[in-house]
Amino acid sequence: METTLIKLNENAARFVSKPKKMFISGRWVDAVSGKTFETRNPATGDLITSVPEGDKADIDLAVRAARHAFDEGPWRTLKPYDRSKLLLKLADLFEENAEELAHLETLDNGAPLSMTKHYPGGAAENIRYYAGWTTKITGETVPVSVPGKVFNYTRKEPIGVCGQIIPWNGPLMMAVWKLSTALATGNTVVLKPAENTPLTALRIGELVQEAGFPDGVVNIVTGFGSTAGQSLVDHPLVDKIAFTGSTAVGKQIMKSSSANLKKVSLELGGKSAHIVFADADYEKALQNAANAILLNSGQVCVAGSRLFVEKKIYDNFMSDLADYTKNYKLGNGFDPSANLGPLISAKQKERVLGYLDLGRDEGAEMLVGGNAADGLENGYFVKPTVLANVNNSMRIAQEEIFGPVVSGIPFTDIDEVIKLANQTEYGLGGGVNTTDIRKAHLVAEGLRTGSVWVNTYNLIDPASPFGGYKQSGLGRENGAESIDLYTETKSVWINLD
Ligand code: NAD
Repeated sequence: METTLIKLNENAARFVSKPKKMFISGRWVDAVSGKTFETRNPATGDLITSVPEGDKADIDLAVRAARHAFDEGPWRTLKPYDRSKLLLKLADLFEENAEELAHLETLDNGAPLSMTKHYPGGAAENIRYYAGWTTKITGETVPVSVPGKVFNYTRKEPIGVCGQIIPWNGPLMMAVWKLSTALATGNTVVLKPAENTPLTALRIGELVQEAGFPDGVVNIVTGFGSTAGQSLVDHPLVDKIAFTGSTAVGKQIMKSSSANLKKVSLELGGKSAHIVFADADYEKALQNAANAILLNSGQVCVAGSRLFVEKKIYDNFMSDLADYTKNYKLGNGFDPSANLGPLISAKQKERVLGYLDLGRDEGAEMLVGGNAADGLENGYFVKPTVLANVNNSMRIAQEEIFGPVVSGIPFTDIDEVIKLANQTEYGLGGGVNTTDIRKAHLVAEGLRTGSVWVNTYNLIDPASPFGGYKQSGLGRENGAESIDLYTETKSVWINLD
């Protein structure tokens, strides 16, 4: 590949070159077993570094540290305003180290710098939003009708020790979404990043320490899902599990958490419908359809992977969309001309290519793409792929591919498209493109999904709830609703007689 890459930020290079440790009880430690595992650059397949392979023993230490910090430490009695100040300091540190964090994310995850450069600012915004909440989490006085003179009020209290398990597709933002709410509400945390992308989580651990959070309030254990992740879910001293990842693992987590009835919140997979009516602003709809599936190379839980296009414009729209993909250049995230990165791993690449074979077998027509990218073989690149002649019951239209692959499905009217869009086990996101306000509202109401975007796609804000209906999850992160995910409500009765 002939290209001039942006040089790795000096601080990021320094971070990568030093030995990696896990963050437990305010100390940087190796795994008890002494084992490590590798993390690789998905754009090249090259080794970046090795990190400790935490497992059951390390999780136990981390959970005990979080338990101690919650039950005995200064965290419990810290005033809300002081929690807020710590969070605001952490937000400042994200901004002060923005370039380094963006470079680490691109190195480990592959997403183009043009995208990751916005993450630290977005993270700071999210943390500041929840820093604001610390002083505004109130209970209620309740007008009860029991006999006698009685005063009843409620308190919102932290749940306790929260295990937080995150995926690789947006590791920095996923860590921040989880940490900011848990900390604002006074919980302590054991965070387990995905094995493919441990770097930004470890750097966040350093920032948490620099901000001055008490020891044990945040602990970070790197390791694999079936060992470290499962031990966290099984640990009897953990009060809550917050998980973002696949629906299959989410189900497993619910089952395991039932042993001590941990509170569970889940952000899972999707197969989101993106709808284009013939009356839509055509150019804008093309742009939305491409952005909906190609952002982060399709490795986005709300990716608009089922594209429903009104029959009378279907052929033209699909062929123009195939043409539109020429605006996307695959490449190393440090290549300033690239706006589409690799998939996360060789395994993910094989999985996506497997779905393309399945699409061919099922009779889909490949209008563009359909294979790995030539000349970029060492990285895990798959070309943007537009499939036509798909119907909603095919496996490629029902199963989450998590790659740059969109299935175009024709429809005739609004009732039909709402019905088809809802014919999926998922319910995460959805979009509609139309200039008819009536259709926009009817579709927004009709879709059984946690988010609906009208004439846009992929917008997210700390103040707006995010999550899934059906098998896309449990609970909402972001916004006021997330406060409920991290608090218990206590009813207090006072006899005034
Ligand atoms: P995954 O479920 O395999 O892994 C996610 C995390 O869970 C990783 O940290 C992994 O180590 C851990 N894990 C795996 N098995 C575990 C177990 N038995 N116990 C505890 N932890 C375990 O998913 P992935 O491949 O990393 O991520 C892709 C999936 O995540 C996609 O399905 C995508 O839709 C979903 N996702 C959802 C959202 C959302 O907000 N809804 C956001 C991002 C990704």
